[in-house]
Amino acid sequence: MKLSKSFFKTLREVPTEAEIPSHILLLRAGMIKKTAAGIYSYMPMGWRVVRKIEDIVREEMDAQGAQEIATSVLQPSELWEESGRWAAYGPEMWRLKDRSGRPFCLGPTAEEVFTEIIRNDVNSYRQLPLMIYQITDKFRDEARPRYGMMRSRNFIMKDNYSFDRDPEGLQVSYDKMFEAYTNVFNRCGLTFRPVEADNGAIGGSGSHEFTALCEFGESEIAYCDNCDLAATVEKAACVDAPADECEMLPLEKKFTPGTKSIEDVANYLGLEQSQTIKALLFITYDEEGNEKEYVAAFIRGDRELNMTKLTNALGLREFDIEFADEEKMGEKTGCVGGFTGPMHLHDCKIVVDSELPRLRNLCAGACETDHHYVNVNYGRDYTCDIITDIKTLKEGDPCPICGSPVKHARGVEVGQIFKLGTKYSVPMGATFKDENQTDKPMWMGCYGIGVSRTFQAIIDMPENHDDNGIIWPMSVAPYHVIITEVKPGDEVQDQVCQKIYDELTSRGVEVLWDDRDERPGVKFKDADLIGIPIRITVGKLAPEGKVEFKLRRESDRYDMTIEEAIEHSADIVNREKRG
Ligand code: ATP
Ligand code: MG
Repeated sequence: MKLSKSFFKTLREVPTEAEIPSHILLLRAGMIKKTAAGIYSYMPMGWRVVRKIEDIVREEMDAQGAQEIATSVLQPSELWEESGRWAAYGPEMWRLKDRSGRPFCLGPTAEEVFTEIIRNDVNSYRQLPLMIYQITDKFRDEARPRYGMMRSRNFIMKDNYSFDRDPEGLQVSYDKMFEAYTNVFNRCGLTFRPVEADNGAIGGSGSHEFTALCEFGESEIAYCDNCDLAATVEKAACVDAPADECEMLPLEKKFTPGTKSIEDVANYLGLEQSQTIKALLFITYDEEGNEKEYVAAFIRGDRELNMTKLTNALGLREFDIEFADEEKMGEKTGCVGGFTGPMHLHDCKIVVDSELPRLRNLCAGACETDHHYVNVNYGRDYTCDIITDIKTLKEGDPCPICGSPVKHARGVEVGQIFKLGTKYSVPMGATFKDENQTDKPMWMGCYGIGVSRTFQAIIDMPENHDDNGIIWPMSVAPYHVIITEVKPGDEVQDQVCQKIYDELTSRGVEVLWDDRDERPGVKFKDADLIGIPIRITVGKLAPEGKVEFKLRRESDRYDMTIEEAIEHSADIVNREKRG
C-alpha cells in the first residue's frame, strides 16, 4: 500500500479527551475516531489490526471445535422475558421499539438468542456437545464510558456458548475455552493473568477473568507469590481476624464530640482503628426501581467494604443499591450520620461482616450525636439479619489459601469465561433426550473476549509503546514492514522501493510504502507513531544498493544490501507473524 494513496492522518497534539497512553496513541496515530461519547469508528489502519485480532480469535475457537455464526444485534424482548433478564438487565441495555411498538434491545450479549437457536434444532444427546460463537457488535449504555475503546458503549465482542449433556461435559468445554483464551492473549502480545471472578449478573457458578496487566487498568486483582491464589478483588475471600479470647467488659457510653470518622473516634478514645466498628448505610430498590428497604452494613473499622460481596449477600443487582441519604434514613431507622452503630437500629436490614461476632469489646456509634459505645459485643449487645464476608482483601492481608501476604495488581479485563450450568436452559426449555429418552436440561457455558478492548489493551502493555508511539507485536501489526522513501521521485530510490515492495509482498509480507512528499523527519515520526515493526529506509545509499534496516522495538539501525534487508525482514515476519 502506498501511503500517498491511503486515507491516513496522524495528529501531533495530544487529544484533550484522552488520558491513558493507548487511547492517546490510537487517536494520534489516526487509527480510531470518536463519533459520540463512548462510540468510536475505526480508520483503515486500526481496522486492519482489529481484523487480525479477530482472525487469531477465529483460529483458536475453530481449533477447539467451535463453529462461527452471526446473529442480529436486534434482539426481541420476549427472549429476555423468558430468561427473566428483561427486567434484570437494567439501564445498561439499549432498548427500542419497532414501528408497531414491540420492544427490542441492541444485544449487550447473546445467551438468550443462542439458547433459542439451539433449543429448536438440538434435541438428542447425540448432537451434544456443541460450541458456537460469533464476533459482532455489542451495545451497553455504560454509566461511565471512558478510556476510548476500553469502556465504550458500542464494542466488538467475540461471544461463544457451549452446550453439554452434563456438568462433566461443561467442565471439558470450559477447559477448552480456558486454553483457547490463553493462546489468543499470548498470540496478541498481552501479559495477562487468568483470575477467579465473580459470576455477576450472568449467573451460574465458576468463572475466570483474563486480566491484561497494566497500571491504567480498571480491574484490581489479588494474587499470591507463594500459592495459586489469583482472583479479582471483588471475588477474593478474606481471612477473618482470630477470635478474641478476652472477657466481655461492661458496655459504656462515651461522649465523643465531632468524631464522625473512624480515624477521629479512634484517636479521641486512644484506640486502634481495628478496635472499632464502621457503619455503611444504603437504600435498596426493587425490580421496578421503587425504594425497597434500608440496609446498614458493619465491618471492622480498618477494613474496606466489598460492594460485590454485599450485593451478592442481599441478592441484588449492582444498580439496585446506593448510599442512603443519612438524614432521611435516620427518620425511619434511628441511625445518626457519623455516629451509627449496630445497636438501637430498627426498620432496616443489618449485615455484619463475618469477623465481627468473634471480636470483643469494640467501639461503635451509639446512634446519638457525639456519642459512641465502647465494649460492644455481638450477641450480648446486638444481632443482625445476615453474617457473611463483606470485606475487601487488601494488599498485605493474609492469603486466604496459604496465609502469606497478598499482592495486588491492576489490569484490564480482556475476556471472561463462565459456567452457566442450567441457568438459561431450564427457564428457556433447552432440553435434550438422553440415552433413555429422558428429557434433560443442557449444561451451558458462555465465554467472551472484548476484541476492541484487546485492540487497545495491547498498546498499554509497557513493551508495546514508548514516547514516540505504538510498537505493535508482529501478529497484529497493521503492516509488517514500512519502507520510508527519503526522496520520492528520485529514479533510483523509486526503483529500489518498488523492488523491495514487490519481493516482500510476493513472500507474504504486508508492506506499507511511505512515498509521500514530506520531510524525512515527518515520515520517521509517523512510522514510529503507527508502530510498524520493521522499517526499511531507502535514501542516499540507494545507488550503492544499500538501505537502512531498523526494528521499531530497538534503537539500532543497520546499513544492509537490498537483498539482505529483504531476506532479514521476511525471516522475522515469518517467524513472528503467527504470534
Ligand atoms: P466490565 O466488568 O469491564 O464492565 P463485563 O464483565 O461486564 O466487563 P462481560 O459481560 O464479561 O463484560 O463481556 C465480555 C468481554 O467484553 C469483557 O471481558 C470485556 O473484554 C468486553 N467488554 C465488556 N464491556 C465492554 C465495554 N463497555 N467496552 C469494551 N469492551 C467491553
Ligand atoms: Mg466480565
